[in-house]
Parts: sequence; C-alpha cells; structure tokens
Amino acid sequence: MFTILPLPFEKTALEPYISAKTMEYHYGQHHQAYVNKLNKLIIGTELEEESLESIMMKTKDNLKQVAIFNNASQIFNHQFFWNSLHPSNKEMKISEELLSLLNNSFGSFDNFVNDLKTTALSQFGSGWVWLVKNNKTLEIMKTANADTPLAHHLRPVLTIDLWEHAYYLDYQNRRAEFLEVVIAKLLNWDFASQNLLN
Ligand code: MN
Repeated sequence: MFTILPLPFEKTALEPYISAKTMEYHYGQHHQAYVNKLNKLIIGTELEEESLESIMMKTKDNLKQVAIFNNASQIFNHQFFWNSLHPSNKEMKISEELLSLLNNSFGSFDNFVNDLKTTALSQFGSGWVWLVKNNKTLEIMKTANADTPLAHHLRPVLTIDLWEHAYYLDYQNRRAEFLEVVIAKLLNWDFASQNLLN
C-alpha cells in the first residue's frame, strides 16, 4: 500500500504566492485522493508489491489499466511538483552546470523562461509543463491530464502543475500570473541540478 509522502515544506511556507488553503486542498485532498484510489485499484492484484515507477511503466500502454496508470502517474507528478518548489529560491544560485545547459539548449535563460511560459499557456485544459533531459540537452514539454515524461522515456528536471486546482483559489483563471510567480519565486534550482545526474 502506498502512503502520501510528506511535503518538503510547511503548508504555509509558499505564502503569499501559494496559500495554505490551496495546499490543504491540493496536497490534502487531490494528491491524497490519487493515493487512496491507487491503493484500491491494486489491492489483491499482481501490481500490489510493485514500485510506483514500475506500476506506471507496466500500465502506461494498456487501455484496460488506464485508471491505475492515471492515479500512479498523478502521485509521481505531484511528488515531483512539490520537490520542484522551494519557499524561497532567492538565495538559491542556479548551478553552473544547469545554467550552461539551459544556455546551450535554449540560447539564453530568458528564452528558457519564455518557452516555459508559452508552452504552459498553450496546454489546453489540465496537465503539466516540464523541463526534461533528453540525452545531453534540455527540452520543455507539456503533458495532458496525468501523462508524464517517464512514460515517454524522458527524465524530468522540473515541473509545474497546470491543473486548475493548482491555482484557482489564489489566481482564479489567471494561469499566466500563477506561472509568472512560480517561475520567479518558487522554482527549486537545487532540485533541478540534482536531476541532471539522473
Ligand atoms: Mn495537482
């Protein structure tokens, strides 16, 4: 049985950018519900003893197991999202390695930020925007609903949740404003740098 992993920060820690109320619903209700549903779906099946990633990889192309994939993938995506955030990224220096990879892949850091925003805004409906590692370069990709780079054999570096539940209480329909704030104030560059080693 899976249990929800603890948040890497307090529910109030992202205020004023992401409210404790959003965190209560997003982590305490939405993320928790994916854990509860996955447990119900796998109990007594051959997937019961498998790791989250193994469940995702074994169910990703099987239409009969789409509910299992969706719930497992949403757990992975949310864990990855919480780790992609940091209460204050102000004192955090972007590592030389990450900065030079971003420059090589996008031309400049500003181009990277623009691409990230544009791609996130172009996602119709629910989904995720990702910075991913594809061999030696970094790329930006969006995924719909529960889809995830792992299912496409790409290693994620950072993600931002684009489901309305991620921002509606604080920003209503203003996804662009939410993105602006998350990118400027909350992205965890240390976590991103660690993920380059994967
Ligand atoms: Mn979410």
